[in-house]
Amino acid sequence: MKRCISLGVIFLLVFVMNPVYSSEIPKEKKELCSWIDKNNNYLCSISDRIWEFAEIAMLEYKSSRLMKTELKKAGFEIMDNAAGMPTAFVASYGSGKPVIGMLAEYDALPGLSQKLSTVKEPITTGAPGHGCGHNLLGTASFGGILAVKEYMEKNNIPGTIKFFGCPAEETLIGKVFMVREGLFDDVDAVIDWHPGDSTKAGYASSLAMNSFKVRFFGKTAHSAGSPWEGRSALDAVELMNYGVNMMREHVKPTVRMHYAITETGKVPNVVPDKTEVWYFVRDTKRESVDKLYEWVLKIAESAAASTQTKREVQLITGCYEILGNKAGAEIIQKNLKLIEPPDFTEEEQRFAKEIQKSMEKEEKGISEKISKLVPPKGPPGGGSTDVADISWVTPVARFSVASKPSSVPGHSWGTTAAVGMGIGHKAMIVAAKTFALTALDLLTKKQLVQKMRKEWEEKTKDFKYKCAVPPEIKPPVLPEPR
Ligand SMILES: [Zn+2]
Repeated sequence: MKRCISLGVIFLLVFVMNPVYSSEIPKEKKELCSWIDKNNNYLCSISDRIWEFAEIAMLEYKSSRLMKTELKKAGFEIMDNAAGMPTAFVASYGSGKPVIGMLAEYDALPGLSQKLSTVKEPITTGAPGHGCGHNLLGTASFGGILAVKEYMEKNNIPGTIKFFGCPAEETLIGKVFMVREGLFDDVDAVIDWHPGDSTKAGYASSLAMNSFKVRFFGKTAHSAGSPWEGRSALDAVELMNYGVNMMREHVKPTVRMHYAITETGKVPNVVPDKTEVWYFVRDTKRESVDKLYEWVLKIAESAAASTQTKREVQLITGCYEILGNKAGAEIIQKNLKLIEPPDFTEEEQRFAKEIQKSMEKEEKGISEKISKLVPPKGPPGGGSTDVADISWVTPVARFSVASKPSSVPGHSWGTTAAVGMGIGHKAMIVAAKTFALTALDLLTKKQLVQKMRKEWEEKTKDFKYKCAVPPEIKPPVLPEPR
């Protein structure tokens, strides 16, 4: 571990000495990049601390506190406990229009603890780890907004910048409740990114989704002595799942439905009186998910009726599909070209290839080029994100930066390793610069915000946002572990 960290420091020094920019970068944008380069070590240490905290959804107490404290010190005004979630916050600076938002996430994933090693080697078996790179995600946005704030202060730039500390992206909770609370209502445009395989802006969509649990309550009995006295809650879960699996043939190929039985019987000779199944139902459009959800709930109802059990449904969260913004992606793509993609050292490429070898992927290292901005093709990939809800209340400009070895999946130990060392640091710095440059564009060039908003207004002209989670459902807050 120690050796890996010192290797990381060497990678970092090499990079700090050689920041790469296009010769076309304007003076003010170079100034923003220089601020980020000067603060490279500071930003990498924030990212590494969040990587070490590795707090899962709704438990990001240390990670959010670290960012809040630093932003407060830098002169930001903090709205704590945003939308009733202790690990959500909004940090604002400046006044008046335009209001530009930057999104940050910092939650880890259960079971993905991993050393900075090229073979699977947890720090603590079963503990969480940053398998989606949200340590980089939050820190890049943080670095970007700090750089812009310095520049605004020095040059008297009008407008407001808002840093949205969004918890629980992995469970699609944070932003849904923040949007429902109206926290994005005064925001003119939002910038967002995600660590990925390639460096590019994009405006592809994602899948809308509902996450819900169904609990069945039966009557326990001796399974052999008096089974006629029992009513099995496990039978109900099995019947429900069977019904959903029959439904599968009659839904569109874009639909995804998956479940895990999270509570079941313990032994065969006791009729189980309580079970729980957790479902994700997804499709390319929110309306379709609403209909699928109704259908699945009918199946649960009939499973309960057939087994003479009772059921209880808990809707945990529900999100929309992303509404892409081409105008926003174009602004970002231009800035990515001014900054240049991360320039990985031979050692970093070797590290990436060794991870690929361990995960039986082609050993092609990490991408060092900027991919072209191309229109999204076909239906969106299989994932969902709560960024989607924001995109229906204000335009969102999005991008990714190559932060992990190509083809190494997100939500894997290989990603946890890459985003905790020099590879992740470099990607995060490029992303922080992209945030800063894009925010400056949006603050100082009115026509760019107007273009983003015009596109968004056209796409939403007959639409009124209605959160998929009704107002009586509160965010599933968890207390801070002692
Ligand atoms: Zn993620």
